[in-house]
Amino acid sequence: MRKSPDLHTHSTASDGTLTPTALIDLAAAAGVKVLALTDHDTTEGLVEALAAASRRDLRLIPGVEISVTWGGRTIHVVALRIDPQNPDLQLGLAGLLEFRHWRAEEIGRRLAKAGIQGAYAGAKALSNGRLVGRTHFARFLVRRRLAADERAVFKQFLVNGKPGHVPGDWASLESAVGWIRAAGGQAVIAHPARYKLTRTRLVGLLGEFRELGGAGLEVVSGSHSRDDIFTFAHHAREQRLLASAGSDFHGPQLAVSGQPWISLGRLPALPEGCTPIWFDWPELADAREAVPSAA
Ligand code: AMP
Ligand code: MN
Ligand code: MN
Ligand code: MN
Repeated sequence: MRKSPDLHTHSTASDGTLTPTALIDLAAAAGVKVLALTDHDTTEGLVEALAAASRRDLRLIPGVEISVTWGGRTIHVVALRIDPQNPDLQLGLAGLLEFRHWRAEEIGRRLAKAGIQGAYAGAKALSNGRLVGRTHFARFLVRRRLAADERAVFKQFLVNGKPGHVPGDWASLESAVGWIRAAGGQAVIAHPARYKLTRTRLVGLLGEFRELGGAGLEVVSGSHSRDDIFTFAHHAREQRLLASAGSDFHGPQLAVSGQPWISLGRLPALPEGCTPIWFDWPELADAREAVPSAA
């Protein structure tokens, strides 16, 4: 297990359980040299994360994980090396946060109809108050003992066909890639194995994404099995996309992904033949020795 950059993590600014400072401290202690904070639809944690990283031997890559609706499904696009101040990006994220706010209240209303009172207030109390995601509902329902764990809550209450499900109405792929490029960043399709796309649809998504100016595909992910890593390394090469790597860490002891062999600071190297998305990043120049198989 070699140390590679971890380019996908969450903090309390979205649905992680550690503050940006605690996340950086834990990553630094785990020997991570390059870390991207990629909270869902918000850059709010970046100021604190940058300050914490400046006190440590760690380079913080400003990022965000943008929720996209593509072909009727939710796809996540990770943005790396963005300028968080960019107005196009911030206007886009403001729209998504507005939808998230409405959706959280709507999930609360639907759960109330199903006999579960107070879920919105309960979930909100477990969040920073500004971004209430499904994970906060999941944690609240676990506390209420309505399900054994978060995974079970999703299955019983929050996914398509269940009482608390509200369909996503996120950004278009074109908008998300456009905001990321406007902010000077690189767009990466996150955890592709999670979408369960047919091969044809996957190739369609990746081709469209690249045409729009998308840069990379997450090959190593906390959501990926060892086989997935090789499958998506192949797709990245075929589709001429750069390869990215991220744990999708949400907090200690939280294996949302179901792949506990991958965690913060514990990522396998990219397979041979992948070009890492960080191959030409100037901010990695002094951390090159931490980079596996850099082109
Ligand atoms: P949201 O963006 O608010 O709809 O929530 C999506 C987040 O929920 C993901 O980033 C994960 O953190 C979490 N999540 C999604 N599916 C599951 C699942 N089956 N079990 C546990 N957590 C999940
Ligand atoms: Mn999440
Ligand atoms: Mn995601
Ligand atoms: Mn994520």
